[in-house]
Amino acid sequence: MSQPATNSTDFVSRLCPNCGLCCNGVLFGDVELQRGDNPKRLTEQGLNLFRKSRKTCFRQPCACFDGKWCQVYADRPNRCRTFECRLLKQIQAGAVTATAALRNIAEARRATEQVRRLVRELGHTDESVPLNRRYAAIAAQPIDLATDEERVERRSELMLAVGRLVRILERDFLGQG
Ligand code: SF4
Ligand code: SF4
Repeated sequence: MSQPATNSTDFVSRLCPNCGLCCNGVLFGDVELQRGDNPKRLTEQGLNLFRKSRKTCFRQPCACFDGKWCQVYADRPNRCRTFECRLLKQIQAGAVTATAALRNIAEARRATEQVRRLVRELGHTDESVPLNRRYAAIAAQPIDLATDEERVERRSELMLAVGRLVRILERDFLGQG
């Protein structure tokens, strides 16, 4: 996740701080701790741990992400150490240029901001909740199609924006390189 340690090049360490999607609650909602992680220490460092079935997880947006950098980089959880998004893998394989990667990140961030803005306008203002849960909560709210025209329109706008964001995330960040 932000500031990848392995296989990093100068370019890659410049790339992640421009992105942050794997730390800010856009790509992931919860992240599971792995064997070798130290829950006590991670809690002391500020991660919000919780139990999910038999796993221990932490929530995103990550409490240790300052919007650009990981504040516990040296001690970050193992999942963060090993995660590489599709874009990162493609860069390392030479399949994507630096310019194209930064363009893709900028596109994803624009799409994210559009969804965020609409989610806020539709009343979900809690930035500590992962973005996909926020738009799912809005979509689940009952709405009167006959009397609440503006809200209906805004919600359709949101669903289009979500569709666009999901396509970008699947194309550039998720799945295999
Ligand atoms: S999603 Fe990829 S490019 Fe973005 S911060 Fe995470 S590892 Fe870096
Ligand atoms: S611990 Fe660091 S690398 Fe892991 S999600 Fe949080 S900010 Fe990102």
